[in-house]
Amino acid sequence: MSLEDLYREVILDHYRNPRNRTELDDPQHRAEGVNPLCGDEVVVELSFDDGIVEAVSVRGQGCSISQSSGSMMSTAVQGRTKKEIAEIAERFRDMFSSDDETDQTDLGDLAALQGVRRYPVRVKCATLPWATLDEALEAGADGAVSIA
Ligand code: ZN
Repeated sequence: MSLEDLYREVILDHYRNPRNRTELDDPQHRAEGVNPLCGDEVVVELSFDDGIVEAVSVRGQGCSISQSSGSMMSTAVQGRTKKEIAEIAERFRDMFSSDDETDQTDLGDLAALQGVRRYPVRVKCATLPWATLDEALEAGADGAVSIA
């Protein structure tokens, strides 16, 4: 199996079996994000305890790239501090602007999306959940963002 096939499997697995979809009762942070270009919608909810993410929910509808990216993000931020989340987000975004095949294995499943950089329109799909997460962290419990 080529790396590309493996990455495709990882993306499809997150798309078909999205993680952390259960709505939070009383999230400290919440935002809704849309990508009108593709029709993707994402809702991100987070609650922190003692400075680390103790509950996260990512739900939505749209293409396999946006929805699998949201699922991967939900597992990546669990148990992390805001600072750690910002670092992962930066690494993730850098993955799409870098030309060379750098080793992204420490990004875990998120590395599976690196092939998306060859399709600039789809990069917005991949980064929508992260833009929505940023908004949620800044806006408190009532954020909304459109990345058109
Ligand atoms: Zn999309």
